[in-house]
Amino acid sequence: MDALFLNSGGLDSLAVARWGREAGHVLYSLFIDVGQENVELAAQGAIQIAAAEQLSHETVLVRWSGGPLLATQKGLSWLGTPFSGPVFFSLGATVARTKGLDFLVSGMRYGTEDQDTTFCDAFVALLRTSPWTHFVTPIRPLSGQGYDEIVARLAEDPVAHATYSCARIPRCGTCRKCETRRRYGIDPTS
Ligand SMILES: [Zn+2]
Repeated sequence: MDALFLNSGGLDSLAVARWGREAGHVLYSLFIDVGQENVELAAQGAIQIAAAEQLSHETVLVRWSGGPLLATQKGLSWLGTPFSGPVFFSLGATVARTKGLDFLVSGMRYGTEDQDTTFCDAFVALLRTSPWTHFVTPIRPLSGQGYDEIVARLAEDPVAHATYSCARIPRCGTCRKCETRRRYGIDPTS
């Protein structure tokens, strides 16, 4: 299939890119810049992932005069705020339609610690009713159950070290992604 690939610059996105090649899919990489806290390192990671698979790569740039569109709220990172998933899914689906692509592929593990489970599940269910865009999240079937399995698979991948997973700058060192990367010896980019 030809699909728009939401490339966030992290290990999950690298896993999706590698999966796409192995499965023979044509992925069009898209990074969405909403001024998120980790945007510079994440954007660099996304470029490296796209380059490693020789994918075309584009960016959606969203700016709000009031500051970052997705900002830290009440102790949550921008990624943990309820609307972050739907923002990325909506913009990705919009670009997919603009490019005439019927599939949207994401490595985002909605329903995990990253996202508000109920809200994101409901939004993804809504997206899946769309007759225009089919939503594909290969990470779970790829990895079995957990993030650890994804990381273990990618620990020997040279591009893994160019990805950035933490929602914070500098990396927090305490979130599950940081802990997992450290456990598998994947050097962070900052
Ligand atoms: Zn972290």
